[in-house]
Amino acid sequence: MTPEPVVRISAIEHFAYCPRQCALIHCDGVWSDNTHTIRGTRAHRRVDSGRHRQERGRHVLRAIPLWSEELGLSGRADAVEVEDGAVRPVEYKAGVRHGAAADLQLCAQALCLEEMLDVAIPHGYVWYGGPRRRLQVDFTEALRREVREVIDQIRAQLLTFKLPAAPNDARCKECQLLHHCLPELSSAPRRVNRYMDNVVFRCAI
Ligand code: SF4
Repeated sequence: MTPEPVVRISAIEHFAYCPRQCALIHCDGVWSDNTHTIRGTRAHRRVDSGRHRQERGRHVLRAIPLWSEELGLSGRADAVEVEDGAVRPVEYKAGVRHGAAADLQLCAQALCLEEMLDVAIPHGYVWYGGPRRRLQVDFTEALRREVREVIDQIRAQLLTFKLPAAPNDARCKECQLLHHCLPELSSAPRRVNRYMDNVVFRCAI
């Protein structure tokens, strides 16, 4: 039986960045763009076209819907390369590598493809637009386990409807939901007082 609720593959990257961001997007339906997301959308234009093509002997299939009954997971692969029977998911990122978030997302895509096509997929690639390079990601047992754990945590979050506390750290400055989340207010009462002093009362003078 498929575990419910179904988790979106994109939620894995959001959760890896910040569990509160994941809850705001996937439980509360909040969305806001910033320069990073707009750059990402622009970089995905070709991928999102869904036009398949032949590149250096490989079939490159774009915008492929993904599903896993076993994991209760759904989403889409930016691209799937097929060459001599080997299948490799490829994820496109506009900027530079930030931790392992993209690796988790790519591994989740591979788990779906393995179930859908009944093939083994030992690795895939993340293409980074910043350095204009693609990096190979090996789908080790440890990475697969981590993906499954993150999916379970996201599902638990979807079921509780609880918004995690804001870490209010360096991530917030770059976060697309900064102005919805108000991490200063939600992180601690002491910080609420400081926020009120610095922002609200000072602005009112
Ligand atoms: S602003 Fe900070 S705490 Fe809030 S969702 Fe973004 S990263 Fe998380």
